[in-house]
Amino acid sequence: MTGNNVRLQAIKDVEAYVPPTPIHPEDTPGDIFGENVFSVSVMQRRLPKTVFKSVLATIERSEPLDPLVADAVASAMKDWAMEKGATHYAHVFYPLTGLTAEKHDSFLDPVGDGTALASFSGKTLIQGEPDASSFPNGGLRNTFEARGYTGWDVMSPAYVLENPNGNTLCIPTVFISMTGEALDHKTPVLRSQQAMAVHAERVLRLFGHEDPDRIVAYCGPEQEYFLVDSHFFLARPDLLNAGRTLFGAKPPKGQEFDDHYFGAIPERVLGFMMETERELFKLGIPAKTRHNEVAPGQFEVAPMFERANEASDHQQLLMTIFKQVAQKHGMECLFHEKPFAGVNGSGKHVNFSIGNSELGSLLVPGATPHDNAQFLVFCAAVIRAVHLYGGLLRVSVASASNDHRLGANEAPPAIVSIFLGDQLADVFDQIAKGGATRSKESGTLTIGVDTLPDLTKDPGDRNRTSPFAFTGNRFEFRAAGSQQTVAAPMVVINTIMAEALDYCATQLETAVAAGTDFNEAVQTLLATIVADHGAVIFNGNGYSDEWPIEAEQRGLKNLRTTVDALPELISPEAIELFGKYAVFNEREMHSRYEIGLEQYILTVGVEANLTLEIGTTTILPAAIRYQTELAANVAALKAAGLEADLSTLQAVSAPLADLRAGLATLAELIGHEHGDDALATATKIRDEVLPAMNAVRAAADTLETLVADDLWSLPTYQEMLYIL
Ligand code: ADP
Ligand code: MG
Repeated sequence: MTGNNVRLQAIKDVEAYVPPTPIHPEDTPGDIFGENVFSVSVMQRRLPKTVFKSVLATIERSEPLDPLVADAVASAMKDWAMEKGATHYAHVFYPLTGLTAEKHDSFLDPVGDGTALASFSGKTLIQGEPDASSFPNGGLRNTFEARGYTGWDVMSPAYVLENPNGNTLCIPTVFISMTGEALDHKTPVLRSQQAMAVHAERVLRLFGHEDPDRIVAYCGPEQEYFLVDSHFFLARPDLLNAGRTLFGAKPPKGQEFDDHYFGAIPERVLGFMMETERELFKLGIPAKTRHNEVAPGQFEVAPMFERANEASDHQQLLMTIFKQVAQKHGMECLFHEKPFAGVNGSGKHVNFSIGNSELGSLLVPGATPHDNAQFLVFCAAVIRAVHLYGGLLRVSVASASNDHRLGANEAPPAIVSIFLGDQLADVFDQIAKGGATRSKESGTLTIGVDTLPDLTKDPGDRNRTSPFAFTGNRFEFRAAGSQQTVAAPMVVINTIMAEALDYCATQLETAVAAGTDFNEAVQTLLATIVADHGAVIFNGNGYSDEWPIEAEQRGLKNLRTTVDALPELISPEAIELFGKYAVFNEREMHSRYEIGLEQYILTVGVEANLTLEIGTTTILPAAIRYQTELAANVAALKAAGLEADLSTLQAVSAPLADLRAGLATLAELIGHEHGDDALATATKIRDEVLPAMNAVRAAADTLETLVADDLWSLPTYQEMLYIL
């Protein structure tokens, strides 16, 4: 029997595993950085001057790409890619599954005489038509209209992805339906960046920047992940199919990292980290990898911030690279938000700011009162945006998997509030009381022309419990899930900032036109925003039991689960907001809502099936075998006239009965047909199926602590978390 135990076999295989020999590249990171990217400097070298200027106008000033130059760009791009060993090209897009999709085509076109010619026209560069009927579209496209269109996002550079079987030129694209509606995550990022920029620039003009360069949204995502040895991973059908463990008793060691195992980790993980860093560098992704000690087996990588559309493409690419490199090193990289119950889950902190290379981040408190006023307006815009549309921020990070993390005392609560830090909170306090005149930290009185205080660059502490925290030159939205695209939160941030900046610009423009002094108009605006929206500012402990109660009194939403959050997408306010700023029309909003529900139902549905299957075919038999052994032992003892202790048998029999009952309940729930109402189905799944899965798990986890080790064939938490 032991011979068939995949867990015991996995342990042997892990012991025998020899990691790949470390590569010691001669070249320095500087040499390889961006090596595989068709970057601006590559274009400058390879494109005719006029063509280059035209493309640059698109990249830097968001001007539409001139189709007349597309052929020249395509031809240069093809030559460059083929020199880098590319045989194929792919339009890479980001469908609403949250994954990355690619449509590959060969550069070679057969010609009449039986040979083939490498070709790649401007038309193929800027537009593709993947058969896309299998991607979710939430009713936006009838299935018989299988076609979707991909279009090059010129602002996100093309790159060559290496593969032992041949390299591919990858072109980041939007993905839209025949009617031009967005079927992806990139399209709304681009639309929302544009909307935000228009109104940010209006505000800047009021502050005397006559012709500012295009304002963009920056995003720097911090990514957490787990590494698990492949042998264990493959012996866990739940990890393999659902990305998280549906069973597993708490390890005796708990969450604390143990020195004993620590010694074995660095070499192998470091080998992995070095290689990922190298691969990311080649693709022009500036990443700092580092160890994270929150949970055993958990790590973090933080790429440098970039424009939101590029950052979200890079973020997707990073996850792909991490998975590939981990496998080369005999490990699996887990991006699931909660792969292991009882130890911390993984998030993706979305650091965001707005600005441009000319002005830097507009969320940096300046050194002079004049800059301060401008900073405070942008900061007040954030306060307004988050207060009015906290529900939309919440839904932008809602998923079945992130539900295990948000509000679970390790990630921010499901209530969206803002942390400003002592100094800024104090400044806004003073503004509310009739004008800020002094900065708390320095204690000096700085009465400027506009009676605003000097601000220091990094005011206040960090607050890990806040979902939306000011961190000195940016805000950090900490609620995003580790496997989700950063595009969804960035779309919401951009759009709600567009609204808030539109409001600020309009208020100021109107006041100035009516003859009000500009500084006075700014003071009034800031005071109004604090009065109307100050309720969203919370510097206290977001994990405390009092906060949900206080938040409710403040009128802040507490959308605990995905099912609670999704209807935010189709609220009249949301539809009006996204429509007004041309980010989503009503149909697109509804499609996202439908897809959100569909994904939730599918995700939990798969997990429920897996729970039933693993419970029935793996855990139940192990427990029954052990029970049989114990019963035989009791019988044998009795037959020998000895006293038989029944306590072990009884201890196993009780959770075994619970397991049977739990599996029966779950089977019945799964067998139940769902109606057409997706929200009702999702609600039922949340309220009945998830608890039924938990009941099965509770019984199984108790059995894990009782059943003989050689009968247990699922790798344990201890093994998965500590052996790397
Ligand atoms: P910390 O460890 O304090 O959170 P890091 O230096 O690791 O800070 O930065 C976290 C992330 O924030 C990185 O991805 C970084 O590029 C990003 N970041 C830094 N400044 C900005 C900014 N102005 N706008 C957007 N992201 C930023
Ligand atoms: Mg951070």
